[in-house]
Amino acid sequence: MSRPRWPPSVLLVAGIVAAVFAFAGGCGAAEDPAKPASDEPAQDGAAPPPDQANAAAADAQTDKPAEKPPEGQAEKPWAPPAFTERRAERDRMVRQIQAYGLTEKPVLEAMRSVPRHEFVPEALSRQAYDDGPLPIGYGQTISQPYIVAEMTRQLGLEAGAKVLEIGTGSGYQAAVLTHFTRNVYTMEIVGPLAEAAGKRLRRLGYDVVAVRHGDGYEGWPEKGPFDAIIVTCATGQIPPPLIKQLKAGGRMVIPVGGPFSIQRLMLVVKDEAGDVSSRSLMAVQFVPLLRRDPTRD
Ligand code: SAH
Repeated sequence: MSRPRWPPSVLLVAGIVAAVFAFAGGCGAAEDPAKPASDEPAQDGAAPPPDQANAAAADAQTDKPAEKPPEGQAEKPWAPPAFTERRAERDRMVRQIQAYGLTEKPVLEAMRSVPRHEFVPEALSRQAYDDGPLPIGYGQTISQPYIVAEMTRQLGLEAGAKVLEIGTGSGYQAAVLTHFTRNVYTMEIVGPLAEAAGKRLRRLGYDVVAVRHGDGYEGWPEKGPFDAIIVTCATGQIPPPLIKQLKAGGRMVIPVGGPFSIQRLMLVVKDEAGDVSSRSLMAVQFVPLLRRDPTRD
């Protein structure tokens, strides 16, 4: 653990944000557990993929991600899709994120680009650009935009980095990550969510994302090690397989804590010698990491 090195203004903002989470239901948990979110995953609709080259490789299956060339081999150039619809609302959302003190341009640009309204259930489309979490079915949520931005920033992704996300949910965070690298791997334990997210990402043109249905506690050893790991569900302890799959010099952001207690968003860093250290970034509230698919027996 090192001492926090953020200026007081940042800590103050983090404190305010944490307080908002604590009282507003935060990033993951449904506001009223007695009223679970809709049982249906977000509808993908039947819209054809956008007319762009990236959407051409739309043959990847949920469990069979698009093949990527072996490391070291030349990759096709990758540019994430661009969307103009509801741009003004995204601009407003980004101004809100800036107001919290996040100023890193590449992160703001990614948040300005990804059409969040495509990742939320149609019935909640009007709220898509509010700075709050929204239910996506199966008791799960799409995270608050500020948290998506801050977690992305903390990963410190360099071009071409290999990143693993645990908790695909809607696929929104994964789409944001493609603005930094084409090497995005994401795992989701709820089968129908994994399937819907894989389809949605391909339909929108984020087809470089490899989605796998499975327990992210175990990570994705066949694709590791990773430069960065982002966990979007809370665990009591940092899963040892994920630490193992983090490269030397790699960074992991992960909410740690129980579902009914205040959780801490932790930054875990593995140094070049392989030594691991961690520090708390802020208080957050995420849905818990599950060990089995609740939709399967
Ligand atoms: N990142 C998502 C939001 C995540 S909500 C987005 O951008 O929309 C957390 C997600 O983690 C939920 O979808 C939940 O089903 C999933 N999850 C919970 N336990 C998991 C596990 N062990 N492995 C993979 N995913 C898990």
